[in-house]
Amino acid sequence: TYLPVALLIGAGLALGAYRLQANRQSFKEQLRRAMRANEFQVHYQPVYGRATGRCEGVEALMRWERPGVGPVRPDVFIAAAEADGMIIELTRHLLTLIERDVLTWATPPDFHVGVNIAAEHLSSPGLVPDIQAFAAAIVARRPLVVLEITERSLISDNGQARRNIDTLRAEGLRVAIDDFGTGHCSLSYLQKFPVDYLKVDKGFVQAIGPAGEEAPVLDAIITLASRLGLAVVAEGVEARYQFDYLEARGVAFFQGYFFARPMPSAEFARWHAAGAKPATA
Ligand code: C2E
Ligand code: MG
Ligand code: MG
Ligand code: MG
Repeated sequence: TYLPVALLIGAGLALGAYRLQANRQSFKEQLRRAMRANEFQVHYQPVYGRATGRCEGVEALMRWERPGVGPVRPDVFIAAAEADGMIIELTRHLLTLIERDVLTWATPPDFHVGVNIAAEHLSSPGLVPDIQAFAAAIVARRPLVVLEITERSLISDNGQARRNIDTLRAEGLRVAIDDFGTGHCSLSYLQKFPVDYLKVDKGFVQAIGPAGEEAPVLDAIITLASRLGLAVVAEGVEARYQFDYLEARGVAFFQGYFFARPMPSAEFARWHAAGAKPATA
């Protein structure tokens, strides 16, 4: 009686694996088709500087609008692209879109252009030429290119990521650790990796109470960054009380709906030309 059951289970597993395989193949194809059909867009979210009170840069955020389906959440399709070995190809496509957009803006020299880089890309020998080509394409605007990398890419590094970071920083690019405090939290890599910014995840900003109640983990991250000589970028700032709290603790950069939402390139260009007024001013 066991044999037919075992056969049935075996057949089921094989079918499941086959289906997964078929889906994976088609997802890869879907991504490639979407790139060819220009379904990807980049939205740009302003980053404000404490010292100047002005918009000092943007973070580029990928968007995918599927015809007949609607927007696909970036964290979802990016995770799928990573799982399918497509993230480098997708990021290269994104970089060409950003190049085209940045060249249409009238931003001043040293305007920050932040790009999210996945772990696999950071630890690949292709990263340096990819980013050098990107920086060269937009050199007319003289921007400051900031690579946003995750804690995960540092922890899993076998040496290539470190070499890539060293090479690019020596050429004047900057590096931010993104979503700081949400990954596999190991502080030892902060001593080993030369980086420029710590981007504090919005989860920590949301821990600030509406009456200014303390957020001890956030306070500790800010102190840690300052002791390491890193500038803090607070993300997900949605309310005045969050901004006040962060400003009082010397946070250097702010990003969030309180200042501005991510917007398409043309809208950003108009908004910037009109004075880059914060949403709440
Ligand atoms: P992230 O890099 O931490 O980006 C910040 C996210 O916070 C963005 O979500 C942004 O729209 C959102 N955000 C900004 N201000 C606020 C706010 O005040 N309140 C709230 N609740 N959210 C705010 P988004 O665009 O959905 O992107 C999600 C994540 O997907 C990003 O998180 C990043 O990890 C990833 N991602 C997006 N674009 C790319 C990309 O081009 N490459 C890679 N590797 N990852 C990307
Ligand atoms: Mg980011
Ligand atoms: Mg985040
Ligand atoms: Mg972030």
